[in-house]
Amino acid sequence: MTISELDRTYVAGTYKRFPVELVEGKGSLVKDTAGKTYIDMGSGIGVTAFGIADDAWQAAVTEQLSRLQHVSNLYYTEPCAKLAQLLCERTGMKKVFFSNSGAEANECAIKAARKYAAEKKGADCYTIVTLANSFHGRTLTTLAATGQAKFHELFQPLTPGFSSMEPGNLCELEAISAKHGVAAVMIECVQGEGGVVPLDPAFVKELSEYLEKHDILLIVDEVQTGNGRCGALYSYMRYGLKPDIVSTAKGLGGGLPIGATMLGEKVENVFGFGDHGSTFGGNPVSCAGALSILGRIDDELLAGVREKSDFIFRELTGAPGIKGVTGLGLMIGIETEAPAAAVVNRCIEKGVLCLTAKTKVRLLPALNIPADVLAKAVAAIKEAAAELAGEEN
Ligand SMILES: *Cc1c(COP(=O)(O)O)cnc(C)c1O
Repeated sequence: MTISELDRTYVAGTYKRFPVELVEGKGSLVKDTAGKTYIDMGSGIGVTAFGIADDAWQAAVTEQLSRLQHVSNLYYTEPCAKLAQLLCERTGMKKVFFSNSGAEANECAIKAARKYAAEKKGADCYTIVTLANSFHGRTLTTLAATGQAKFHELFQPLTPGFSSMEPGNLCELEAISAKHGVAAVMIECVQGEGGVVPLDPAFVKELSEYLEKHDILLIVDEVQTGNGRCGALYSYMRYGLKPDIVSTAKGLGGGLPIGATMLGEKVENVFGFGDHGSTFGGNPVSCAGALSILGRIDDELLAGVREKSDFIFRELTGAPGIKGVTGLGLMIGIETEAPAAAVVNRCIEKGVLCLTAKTKVRLLPALNIPADVLAKAVAAIKEAAAELAGEEN
């Protein structure tokens, strides 16, 4: 059997894969089994922040790998402690809990919020309010947090204690608060899986003031938007927010699994011994890689992210076959006249790997993608959108 046949035979059928088998790469270029090179505009869904087989990340990971790959959370290790320090110093948050994925980082955020609210306001104050069109993960609890009914249908009953509101409408939150004790509101500043939709800054400001006033925690899910993706270290910084809890994952590890839940002043001591845990969380190899990633997300890199973002918006806005461009930093959604899937398939033929999000073509290139490589990819996307625009949808 070929690899694709083996995969379809033995791997659970949850993924509709593209007919491409990738074998190796460097930076923003990746090769398939036939030796065809593609420009990677998806970074493994926003994970390989500095590209594939990035030298500094690879050196940090292999160095740690040769010393100690795992010890469990019964002992201290340097990469875990130093990564927590760096995250806190760069965000002003106070403590970090490490896990292995975005969903787990959100689970921890939800547990922290529930415990804080129960202790401060009583056991019936547990509701977590999230936004319509949000995405927070695939576990039963983070599915309950996800404000999209299509993810819920097959898996009832989900974890209770979640409520959804339309972004932009604070009245809905007031109505929910009137009926339930609200522990926290969880948002993505730019809804990723929801179609790369940035929240309205005026709404976000109004929301955060309301939460502050009512001692309701603000959780920002920075799983996709974080770690430089949106042109700031975390997207909440571009919105001028002061979250109580920040969850992140994806790009932080540069390609190895890691989740991090950062706890602010109000909740820094909410967890005591045994309240939460993870076998792999804070793994020294993942943390060593993350240290190399986070240490390089500096002002210069972030300025580069914003410049490349401006370039993409300039090139694609108003181009033939393109109805609109949304997003922040290098998290970009492109509404095309032709169906997004058709544009993505045409891009594959042209040697460019893109993602979709709802009805849009989505781009999450490496933060350090060279300008000339980016220009080539954008030209190919533009061509694909224009070529397919005329065709019958
Ligand atoms: C990807 C994503 C998650 C889930 O992360 P996993 O690592 O797949 O569990 C959660 N929230 C947001 C905003 C995401 O984009």
